[in-house]
Amino acid sequence: MTEELFRQDAYLKSCEATVVGVADNAVRLDRTVFYPTGGGQPGDVGVLRRADGSTLAIADTRKGAAPGEIVHVPAPGQPALAVGEVVTAEIDWARRHRLMRMHTSLHLLCAVVPAGVTGGQIGDAKSRLDFDVGELVLDKDEIARKLNELIQRDAAVAPRWISDAELAAQPELVRTMSVKPPSGHGQVRLLDIAGIDLQPCGGTHVARTGEIGPVTIEKIENKGKRNRRVVVALAS
Ligand SMILES: [Zn+2]
Repeated sequence: MTEELFRQDAYLKSCEATVVGVADNAVRLDRTVFYPTGGGQPGDVGVLRRADGSTLAIADTRKGAAPGEIVHVPAPGQPALAVGEVVTAEIDWARRHRLMRMHTSLHLLCAVVPAGVTGGQIGDAKSRLDFDVGELVLDKDEIARKLNELIQRDAAVAPRWISDAELAAQPELVRTMSVKPPSGHGQVRLLDIAGIDLQPCGGTHVARTGEIGPVTIEKIENKGKRNRRVVVALAS
């Protein structure tokens, strides 16, 4: 198991870690600040800094084959690390912070559009959610206005854990059919945006909605009779 430091503190930009595995173009550490691709959020990129100050570029982060395992994928042509070596793992914070702003904005979008989510993808400039809207008609300007209102409310954003049994008793909390929240030991991680949205989520988010900054609705695409794709972009 890799200790997932980003779950408790999404603002950690680096950590010291020990290399515990090197194989098939994948580096495993005992602990990491690198978020692995999942829940619609791309994996982190960054560097592993060695004791001599040289760096190894990490081009992607993914979940490993074993449960709870995270693998750091080096860019092509990087030097090999040795098991037992101590490194400083540093994420590309500018990119990650944009992903956190975008990710949090999608939670707010869930609160604005009263429909089930069938899919989604987070990017560092643009993101999308697909909704099963049924007969509901979506208005681009109205969604943009409501979304920016929620951002300006500057509500607190924080993770918390509930038991599987509590979640089973509140199935309405699960807004998306496409993403499985992190669970284990009978606990599920929820993301709570005070008074606005509460749903299972394992991603990284900003601490207050105001930190997202202004957003625009780029477009609403027709993806079939019942499905609409809403594309959100950071305005800055
Ligand atoms: Zn989330």
